[in-house]
Amino acid sequence: MTPHKHTIGYEILNNGHTNKGTAFTPEEREELGLRGLVPHTIGTQDLQIERVLANMRRKGNDIERYIFLNALQDRNERLFYRTVIENIDEIMPLVYTPTVGQACKEFAHIFRQPKGFYITRDDKGDIEKNLGNWPHEDVRMIVITDGERILGLGDLGTNGMGIPIGKLALYVACAGIRPEHCLPVMFDVGTNNTELSEDPLYLGHHGERLNGDAYFELMDEFVQAVQTRYPKALIQFEDFLTPKAYALMNEYRDKVLCFNDDIQGTAAVTLAGVLASTRITDNDFKDLRIMFLGAGSAATGIGDLLTIALQKEGLSEDEARQRLWYVDIEGLLVKSRTDLMDHNLPYAHEHEPMGFVEAIKDIKPHILIGATGAPGTFTQEVIKTMSDINERPAIFALSNPTSRAECTAEDCYEWSGGKAIFTSGSPFDPVEHDGKTLRPGQGNNAYIFPGIGLGAVACQATTISDDMFLVAAQVLAEMVSEDLLETATLYPPLALIRDVSLNIAVGVAEKAFEEGLADIDKPKDLRAFIKDQMYDPVY
Ligand code: NAD
Repeated sequence: MTPHKHTIGYEILNNGHTNKGTAFTPEEREELGLRGLVPHTIGTQDLQIERVLANMRRKGNDIERYIFLNALQDRNERLFYRTVIENIDEIMPLVYTPTVGQACKEFAHIFRQPKGFYITRDDKGDIEKNLGNWPHEDVRMIVITDGERILGLGDLGTNGMGIPIGKLALYVACAGIRPEHCLPVMFDVGTNNTELSEDPLYLGHHGERLNGDAYFELMDEFVQAVQTRYPKALIQFEDFLTPKAYALMNEYRDKVLCFNDDIQGTAAVTLAGVLASTRITDNDFKDLRIMFLGAGSAATGIGDLLTIALQKEGLSEDEARQRLWYVDIEGLLVKSRTDLMDHNLPYAHEHEPMGFVEAIKDIKPHILIGATGAPGTFTQEVIKTMSDINERPAIFALSNPTSRAECTAEDCYEWSGGKAIFTSGSPFDPVEHDGKTLRPGQGNNAYIFPGIGLGAVACQATTISDDMFLVAAQVLAEMVSEDLLETATLYPPLALIRDVSLNIAVGVAEKAFEEGLADIDKPKDLRAFIKDQMYDPVY
């Protein structure tokens, strides 16, 4: 017996880009050869979403929900994205932080089907050729990681692929970048995490991490291959170890369309929170003293953008930096220390060495920003000291995932007697305090990077400037309503994320035209031009 040839309908049904499941109309079923392949009753996308949500909620835990959503993304892309967009509060924590952290840890064990593009040292000389295996020719958004510093979880090797996949899902959901324009990339240069590499199910290159020149040469081959194959693509560097993150950003930021989200995206979302906090405290932005716990890429990235923002307020670079103080695991960053990295030096002040709490008492910051990956470091004493100094201290516990936050929302409100304006990297539920509902804001980069990407891609920006991040932060800060500020929240609701992204994209593109960094003629109606490009997953 010869097997039947697949009909076009069968192919359409089994292709996640085109599948609509039970929602194909009678006409489509006839035309495409789908009759007999789907159950009788025609479903609407709304009904399908209801079914998806019920099935998702029935799962026993979040990692099962993650696996379920991942499979839906493969099976029916439009249904997946519409479900995400319309239920963003519930689903973002599942497709991104915090669940993605767990998913990365378990990547090799929950693996179902390859997604994205992998590069190893064995591909040297072949990266451009291999990119030709990718099925889509018009790639616009690339997220790449080498898996060495996944969230606050350390070296997860090729398991880190969950991050580019998750970030790109947010690009599509939050900013309407088209799914076929997205390319997740794992720069798999090995892992030094022996627990992983000794796991028989581990999927990555088993060698020790490539470092030094060989590492940067391989990355350069990739970046150049992208310029040849996908000249309009934006490369987002994600979750690299701090020295490499800075080295790559400094090498490429003025040469190709790229940015580092941990440094520049985090900076913009935090600056937005800082600006919004002044709407509650009435402090003048240029008079703020800000203290950081942690002096890694996230923290100094924030400092660098704050410096630029303060300079726009009329301060000199030096004056701006004097407003910013850093404490790391060794104590206050001061000039006499000899253990500092290059990116720390501008913030090492002439001051005597001291520990964290002592430094808070001495410097009296208005705002405390934690980016340590070290949970529990904002102790009761820390929060209490901040509340003694400030009427409304702003506390940013940015470390991800939730388990790594410097303190919990509940503790922060409790210890500050309800005075603190609390923001975290991963979500916390609202807390009742003294009969008042306090809503922790989520200083999530997802407020920033989708809009930056959309704006840059829409106007075909050649590079991304600091001013574009400044604009993004200002736009975001202005979108927080007075009602939300009342509940001590510094960010707009996630439900508004597509509006946020569009507003940011317009601001970013405006800036690109202003700075001569856009590669298209300026459209008459920039907002409509960008809005028209946004992917809409309704069937
Ligand atoms: P990093 O490793 O480069 O820096 C960590 C810094 O924290 C170092 O300066 C280290 O000395 C300091 N540190 C560690 N433990 C400490 C302790 N107990 N006391 C004082 N200082 C301590 O890492 P990074 O890339 O800067 O990221 C740090 C954290 O920020 C991560 O947990 C990450 O999840 C988080 N992050 C959050 C966001 C966000 O929410 N928007 C974005 C990026 C990074």
